[in-house]
This record gives sequence, structure tokens and C-alpha cells, in this order.
Amino acid sequence: MTFTQKHLLGIEPLHPTEITAILDLADQYVDLNRRDQKHADALAGLTQINMFFENSTRTQASFELAGKRLGADVMNMAMQASSIKKGETLIDTALTLNAMHPDLLVVRHPHSGAVDLLAQKVNCAVLNAGDGKHEHPTQALLDALTIRRAKGRLHRLNIAICGDIAHSRVARSNLILLGKMENRIRLVGPPTLMPSQIDAFGCEVYHDMREGLQDVDVVMMLRLQRERMDGGFIPSEREYYHRYGLDAEKLSEAKPDAIVMHPGPMNRGVEIDGDIADDINRSVIQEQVEMGVAVRMAAMDLLARNLRETRRQTEVMA
Ligand code: ASP
Repeated sequence: MTFTQKHLLGIEPLHPTEITAILDLADQYVDLNRRDQKHADALAGLTQINMFFENSTRTQASFELAGKRLGADVMNMAMQASSIKKGETLIDTALTLNAMHPDLLVVRHPHSGAVDLLAQKVNCAVLNAGDGKHEHPTQALLDALTIRRAKGRLHRLNIAICGDIAHSRVARSNLILLGKMENRIRLVGPPTLMPSQIDAFGCEVYHDMREGLQDVDVVMMLRLQRERMDGGFIPSEREYYHRYGLDAEKLSEAKPDAIVMHPGPMNRGVEIDGDIADDINRSVIQEQVEMGVAVRMAAMDLLARNLRETRRQTEVMA
């Protein structure tokens, strides 16, 4: 079997062949999603619970749609208004849910590591939908699929990840994934928005956006994560846009066929010029959203296969 994971907690534990297995299956789901009849039965009979302890629009909708298209019973827990507010610990919440026999738990949490902890307490497959500044594996996978389809390959590309790297789980998961697939990665942004152990990633760092974008194949923009900033990381949004916002002039440094990406939600006029974001010849931002559903279908399908196999083996041994 090419995909051996029990959970999808991050990109870090994945072997390149497992990444390829998810993307290959996701390609098939892209085709399914473009048909009138969008249903398959890979998750039929299974229960998927989405627990989002942080606000999310696109990721939660994407996981919900992915589960429904594969025939799962999908439940969204409104964690903002839940017993957590009444003082229940994360572990108690997990154990309560576990007693309802879910098969797939999709979790977003503001603290790095919270999803890993939860995965140790339940007997189902857990998918990390973003934990603090740590990882957002399905985002990196959907970005990888978007790049592979636009560029025809996922290796030996020059990729610039630009903006608020320090606070971004998207940047972290992408760095790990694109590095595993042997791409050349540059980090572009102000020194205040670079992570402290930047050298550990072994990529080139640029503080000048024009230099950083020279001859790249992919420009990946990031949102300014204001909710994770506790001080003056940038002088002003205007100044930030002037120096690091992606506009036509800065983009002209990249290869003429370079693609522009953004994980959303986008701040137009802060990280990116609205016309560039909407330019269908350069921007693949809508494709990223489309690939998101397919990648989540593929990830849940593969995890469910492993879950069923483990349960079958346990039954045989019992
Ligand atoms: N939606 C992505 C995340 O959850 C990116 C962002 O919020 O800027 O991390």
C-alpha cells in the first residue's frame, strides 16, 4: 500500500510517495466533481465530525462537501459556542465525541500540537485542518495539486513564498511539502515576519520583493495573520503593500508564465492587488479552492481505507 498513515496531522510524517498517492487520487476526484452526478461511496456508512475551534469558512465548507460527496454522514460542531466555553477540556470533548463512534474527525485549533494530542485519545482517523502556527496539511496538498496541474510537474520549480511567513501554518506545510518534492524555495518578506529558525529550512531568504520574485515559476502569497500578531510587525498596511504587496510591476520580475497563488482569505490592496488576484491568465486562486475539495476527498478516502483495514485485522485477531 502506498499510503500507510492512520491520521493526517501534518506534511512532516508523509513520504513523497504518500504525497503523490493523495494527489493522484485527488486528480480523479477533480473529474468526479466536474460531473453532474458528483456522488461516490468511499465513505458510505462512516461518520465524519468537523470540530472547528477557530473560525473558518472555506476549509470547513470544503471538508463538509468532500465528506458528503463521498457518502459520509457529516456533522459540524459549533465549537465556538460549545462546552469548551463552559470549561470542558479539549480531551474531555474528544472523549465525549469518541463515545459517539465517529470514523473521521476533522479538527482546527488555535494551539499548535492540539490536534496531535487529540489524535492520541480517539479511535478514529484525525485530520488536521490547521493547528496554530504549526501545520495545515490539506492546504499544502491542495496547493501542490494546483501547481502540478498548472505546471505539469511538482519538482525542480522555483517557488517564492511571500509575506507573513512567521505566523503562517500554510507557509510551514508548504515549505515541508515542496522541499520533500525537491523544489527550490525562496522566502520573501520583511525581517519581522520571518520565523526565528529560518536557517533550519535551508531556503533562500529575500527582503526585497523584486529580487525575490526574479525568474520564479510560482508566486505564493500569504495573508497578514493579524490575529497572531501582538505588536508592531509592520509599519502600516499602506507601507506593507508598497513594499510587499503583489502588483503587476513586482510580478513582472517572475517568469512570464508564473502562476499566482493565495490560500485565502485575501486582503486585497494589502497583500495583493485585486486585478492580479482576478487575472485568469496568472491567478490560480479559484483553482486552489476547487482542488481543496478533491484533495480532502482523497485524503479522507485513503485514511478510511486504512481505518477499515485496521478494524478488519483487529476483528480477525479477536
Ligand atoms: N486559511 C488559511 C489558514 O487557515 C490561511 C489564512 O487564514 O490566512 O491558515
